[in-house]
Amino acid sequence: MKRKRNEIRPVKIKRNFTKTTPGSVLYQCGDTVVLCTASVSEKVPPWMAESGKGWITAEYNMLPGSTEPRKRRDRNKVDGRTTEIQRLIGRSMRAVADLEALGPRQITVDCDVLQADGGTRTASITGGMIALIDAINSFKKELPDPTKFPLRDSVAAISVGIVDGKPTSDLDYPMDFAAAVDMNVVMTGKGNFVEVQGTGEESTFTEKELGSLITLAKKGCKELTVLQQNAIGKKWPF
Ligand code: UDP
Repeated sequence: MKRKRNEIRPVKIKRNFTKTTPGSVLYQCGDTVVLCTASVSEKVPPWMAESGKGWITAEYNMLPGSTEPRKRRDRNKVDGRTTEIQRLIGRSMRAVADLEALGPRQITVDCDVLQADGGTRTASITGGMIALIDAINSFKKELPDPTKFPLRDSVAAISVGIVDGKPTSDLDYPMDFAAAVDMNVVMTGKGNFVEVQGTGEESTFTEKELGSLITLAKKGCKELTVLQQNAIGKKWPF
């Protein structure tokens, strides 16, 4: 293993990657590459009409060529894994959102995996957050109160696990495949937890191991938050 077990993979962030959406981020961590776009619509879901509040939702997809063998394109139905992942991304964004301050509009964060090498859901959250901030900044003047940013904090996510008996950060696919314990952790920029999903795969884990995984995740998410902040620069709202 070339990197240390507590080191995250190299991250590259390209904002404004495509022109059609106000948020568009090409997010790469190691060999995982995700395009995250954030689109704004002045329409909210029917069940939210009259509330004056906005909504943030997410969709996730792995493109056919993102993995070997080719992944069949979802035409009519969304599989269980995809549903689970897109709900996680949406929940993570809404955990820090002030939907009243957003006003009556919906933002959809679309995460399309161009190349999958482990950690595609966590990359989608970390990259999607940058796209979401860019999208909100694009209509900031039209917010109900332009001085009140509709996110209270940022979120970033990382996958950690026990590989070859040792706590390891930012699992790529071979590591994920070999991991006895696999955990996805979503945290805010200020260091609170949003979601912790840990599973012993045909294995169990001790409280001590859990603690060491949380320590690794905290370090990783902190570093990712700095990278998000540097990517956005002076428009960083927090
Ligand atoms: N993977 C794949 N095809 C699939 C699902 C997963 O090739 O249909 C690979 C891909 O590299 C992915 C990894 O398995 O990143 C781990 O998948 P998992 O479901 O744990 O989600 P992720 O770690 O990407 O969030």
